[in-house]
Amino acid sequence: MTNKKLDRPSFESVYMKFAEEISKRSSCKRLKVGTVITTTDFRKVLAVGYNGNAAGLANGCDRDEVGNCGCLHSEENAAINCDSPRYVEKYVFVTHLPCSACAKRLINIGNVKKVFFLEDYRKRDSLAMLATTGIETFKIEDGAAIEVQEWLANNLKIVPKLIKKEKVNK
Ligand SMILES: [Zn+2]
Ligand SMILES: [Zn+2]
Repeated sequence: MTNKKLDRPSFESVYMKFAEEISKRSSCKRLKVGTVITTTDFRKVLAVGYNGNAAGLANGCDRDEVGNCGCLHSEENAAINCDSPRYVEKYVFVTHLPCSACAKRLINIGNVKKVFFLEDYRKRDSLAMLATTGIETFKIEDGAAIEVQEWLANNLKIVPKLIKKEKVNK
């Protein structure tokens, strides 16, 4: 699935840019995340979402606490917005690697075949969950989709950095 340099953007790149663009609507102070759910032929956008508070509530986080700011996650909102039947095969584009709770939400909307993400996340427990349920995960780099195991193998050096960062946060 690694795309050679084309003279036009890949669908993966286009929808990831859309996810990035919709993430800008997020009112979360901690992180702005966007999600786009499409059909597997890339012809239809089934749902979009970005993280933030529930409609009608204050436009911002409930509290200044990392990991507990009260915002609904972008994947969560996209799953809520996705009224497409379970049997429709889906691709999910998320600006950041989903957390484990959102991975479960994506699993349960039914027939998600692939999840594409742009930015790494401090926790990667969602990867095993997605793999166990038969969902392929891809990292988008320079507009090309790289199978996540391949990407991890090529980027082992970033793991210690992430672990160190997590220790500092605690
Ligand atoms: Zn927030
Ligand atoms: Zn989440």
